[in-house]
Amino acid sequence: MLWKTVAEAREGVRTAQRAGQRVGLVPTMGALHEGHASLMRAARRDCGFVVVTLFVNPAQFAPGEDFNRYPRTLERDLDLMAAEGVSAAFVPDAAEMYPRGAATTVHVSGLTDGLCGPLRPGHFDGVATIVAKLFNALPADAAYFGEKDYQQLQVVRRLVRDLNMPIDIIGCPTVREPDGLALSSRNAYLSPTDRAQAACLSAALFEAQRRISEGLRDPAAIISGIRKCILAAGPAVIQYVEIVDPQTLRPLNIIEGEGRIILAVLIGTCRLIDNVAATAPGA
Ligand code: AMP
Repeated sequence: MLWKTVAEAREGVRTAQRAGQRVGLVPTMGALHEGHASLMRAARRDCGFVVVTLFVNPAQFAPGEDFNRYPRTLERDLDLMAAEGVSAAFVPDAAEMYPRGAATTVHVSGLTDGLCGPLRPGHFDGVATIVAKLFNALPADAAYFGEKDYQQLQVVRRLVRDLNMPIDIIGCPTVREPDGLALSSRNAYLSPTDRAQAACLSAALFEAQRRISEGLRDPAAIISGIRKCILAAGPAVIQYVEIVDPQTLRPLNIIEGEGRIILAVLIGTCRLIDNVAATAPGA
């Protein structure tokens, strides 16, 4: 099934629920890859009816970002969804999601103050707004998001909690290339040289994870190791490397329990983000 309007999508979701099916939602911007496919599989495990949304949301691109060149591969995306046994695709156009006069945005404060927030003005408002709209348009039982976009996942969890939205948010592990690079639609922007270099991000994160598991507890020392590892691999602009509390996303002074190491780095013209858990031994 291919739905283009909110009315069709809402009716489709309700029909599945009336037939007794749990409905799972996988929001995406298309240019689908194995990371997206893993969310579809997780949804299929829990839900009899799975909807994937494909919408390149203009509101979540900051000024000067890659909205126009963002990859759009609708035919391939529909084939991949069919192969994954997805029940329906929701593919609205911009006018359907943002009718003339749309004047409401959703802002999640605190969680968006750091990390990617200040670097991408308006981005998380755009994300929170489209996610709230999708949850209202398609009243699914559960929605599946990747840990790859860790800050986004926490923003969505908070949004749902704060606005009492009746939907379960399921976080799914990051899917990686064999050399460790996290899959991303934006990896298409990497030249072959940049692509080879990009493996340094996950390598640096895994090495940091190892040092933490051996008992290193000082975030500054770990962060400096990560920076060195990335810059040793070639030219790169490190936007940030931080070790934060997994819930509040505030920087940790010492790694005692659970933490999350998160980074954003420019390699060539491509902005890459990645993150891993940082758990102190015995935590
Ligand atoms: P996007 O199309 O990039 O907006 O991503 C749609 C969903 O797929 C988001 O929940 C992402 O976190 C998730 N996702 C993207 N890349 C990956 C990946 N490599 N592994 C797991 N989930 C991913």
